[in-house]
Amino acid sequence: MQDTPPSVPDFTQWPSFPFEGDLHVKQLDEPVPVEPPRRGEGNRECTACNASDEAYIWVGERWRVRAMDRPTGLPMVLILESRSHLDLGDLPNLLAAELGVMTVRLERAIRSLDGVARVHVNRWGDGSAHLHMWFLARPYGRLQLRGTFLSLWDSILPPISEAQWRENLAMVAAWLAEFGGRPLAEPPRIQWQAPSSLTPAPTGGATEEPEEETASVIEAADEIPEAEAAEEPSPDAPEQPAAPEQAGPPERAGTPQQPEAPRQAGAAQQTGQQPQQAGAPDQAGQQLQRAETPKQATESA
Ligand SMILES: [Zn+2]
Repeated sequence: MQDTPPSVPDFTQWPSFPFEGDLHVKQLDEPVPVEPPRRGEGNRECTACNASDEAYIWVGERWRVRAMDRPTGLPMVLILESRSHLDLGDLPNLLAAELGVMTVRLERAIRSLDGVARVHVNRWGDGSAHLHMWFLARPYGRLQLRGTFLSLWDSILPPISEAQWRENLAMVAAWLAEFGGRPLAEPPRIQWQAPSSLTPAPTGGATEEPEEETASVIEAADEIPEAEAAEEPSPDAPEQPAAPEQAGPPERAGTPQQPEAPRQAGAAQQTGQQPQQAGAPDQAGQQLQRAETPKQATESA
């Protein structure tokens, strides 16, 4: 059994598979009888619950959206979180309904960005018990990025520019704010005297996380859990956002009151055409309109 590892599957030959060369299948560890607690579970603190709104690019009454700490390979990687400390299957109906609305809204906002062909929506949940949905934008034309390896490519591709990244964040935040809530990401400001422009302008909230560093989907996803890194790789699936999660006891585990999303869904469709939120550049309008024409779904994989 363990002496004869299975041969590598066919997908390693797919154009979308990021690696080539002599590949081997890892040996799996023995399954553990009891899984360790995730963040926000057992005695582990929940960073999401303790993260201030400033760590997010947009916040609403019951939902918050945040980005990685810095640009990554994909045009946009965002995480949608509930304020309440709940996992997916535990959402009450109102929040569950809002999750649908927020998912659609966020997908559309990201899809409207320049150069974005598709938005992959994922929920892994192996790293944190606090619900968080991943939204990964696939660059237009990059057919090799289609499908399930997109999260890997995020760490492989060269990061997009800081300016573009911030502009994208501001665009999405402004879009969401059209339906309510508060946009916290602002477009990049020109730093006239910036010796080292690597220092992020104190505008966006996305990079304010003082804690861990969320470098990419995979890293953030707990592929390499900071704490347990020394021991052994934990969950396989991409997981946790490293940054915002991990800090304090979940106190907001309250129950959601009213669905903010569904209620505004109607208005959303009307106003969605012309975002005029602070920070929304002119292009926002064009992009929004462009989004009106849904691109074709030629999902592979
Ligand atoms: Zn929490």
